[in-house]
Amino acid sequence: MGVTVEDVVARAKEDGVRLVRFLYCDPSGVIRGKNVHVERLAARMRGGVGLTRAQNAINMLEQFVPIAGMEPVGEIRIVPDPDTYSRLDWVPRTASLLCDQLGHDWTDWGGCPRSFLKRAIAAAAGEGIRVMAAFENEFYLAEEVDGTVRPYGDGPVYSSAGMDRVADVIDDIVSALEAQGLEVEQAINEYGPGQQEIAIRYADALRAADNQLKFRDTVRGVAEVEHDLIASFAAKPFADGVGSGAHVHFSLWSSDGAENLLYDPDAGERLLSPVGRHFVAGVLDHLPALVALTCPSFNSYERLQPRAWAGSTVSWGLDNRECSVRVASPFRGREMESTNIELKACDPTCNPYLALGGLILAGLDGIRRGIEPPEPAAKDPSWMTPEEQHRSGVRPLPSSLREALANLQADPVLFPALGDLLGRGLVAVRTAELEAFEAMSPDEARRAHLRVF
Ligand code: GLU
Ligand code: MG
Repeated sequence: MGVTVEDVVARAKEDGVRLVRFLYCDPSGVIRGKNVHVERLAARMRGGVGLTRAQNAINMLEQFVPIAGMEPVGEIRIVPDPDTYSRLDWVPRTASLLCDQLGHDWTDWGGCPRSFLKRAIAAAAGEGIRVMAAFENEFYLAEEVDGTVRPYGDGPVYSSAGMDRVADVIDDIVSALEAQGLEVEQAINEYGPGQQEIAIRYADALRAADNQLKFRDTVRGVAEVEHDLIASFAAKPFADGVGSGAHVHFSLWSSDGAENLLYDPDAGERLLSPVGRHFVAGVLDHLPALVALTCPSFNSYERLQPRAWAGSTVSWGLDNRECSVRVASPFRGREMESTNIELKACDPTCNPYLALGGLILAGLDGIRRGIEPPEPAAKDPSWMTPEEQHRSGVRPLPSSLREALANLQADPVLFPALGDLLGRGLVAVRTAELEAFEAMSPDEARRAHLRVF
């Protein structure tokens, strides 16, 4: 913290950097930006880089969607956070900085997802809560052979053989992540053919979302530039392969960071502290709308199916991998520190600022209303009797992006919190996408997601 413009310029020069990417994530979840020459870096860090308001109205299919307030008239500025500087190992002499989108008065111009997350973090701080989080990403490695994209480096799930087949790629990815200060905790060859998972260490919420941009860019960049492979973060890139989640692990800490507020040594079968339970109840209550932010692409709903460990219902439970909200069992001897909750109904096509901001606001609403969650689910919700489902409050999640967007617009907390422009813009951009995808064959739609994410 406290990195200055001068510090960044000095580091960029020391790193031999020539171009610095000013990056942001748009409402479609696409990471975009502009390069700034190192000789102009100090000036552009202070003054920002100009961007047309219309840039946020471009969807993942590169279609320009007409949205009032996001016309190609008027400029905004993308302004980097000096704390986010990192050198990008897979491209020559290049670094990146992550940006807010600001108006000329240096506040959110109305469509800035990173500012939305900052507001949610401030709202949590107002309740004495500091949110820590990490996105746990799954992704596919694939190669294109004679025009056909097929999974790369398959092996039995969690096997040495599977790890060997991608060891050189994963090693390069891990070193590029480490060079940017992301702490890698685990790397797994996952269940789907060619599917991988890399877990990084948690950080405060803003940093966790920033890390998610760095993570996606790094995995894609290293795979493509250094190994001539495709790395895809699409939620369900292959019809016959399991989907990819970006499970959000989070915990709620006291403002001074000393105490994990989720942990309650006396909670027993109630699993969590009262604050933790209220937060979970809020998340469950808003989840049918929240998924428009956490599972936000057309293809996300091909993943969100029962018996795929993706969390396809409104449900919670202890270490229950079929629930959308899983209370992870704490580690022996580190119970306080390690108590955390996992939102499984989230995939890596999300804009992490919107996903995490929405999650925080949903949980805070539960705390403000003091609501209690239903009985935790002790089984796979799809194996429960109707009475058991009722006791555990099991409800289906939306089966399409269209349904999720309708829920989001009707949500009395989440939709207003986005603000008029971001809320309207998001719905318009996504609606244009889903209309285009509905007119395509399922294979074409899947392929488009595989290529973009
Ligand atoms: N691939 C599953 C998903 O779509 C998750 C599997 C796991 O729990 O690791 O979320
Ligand atoms: Mg996994």
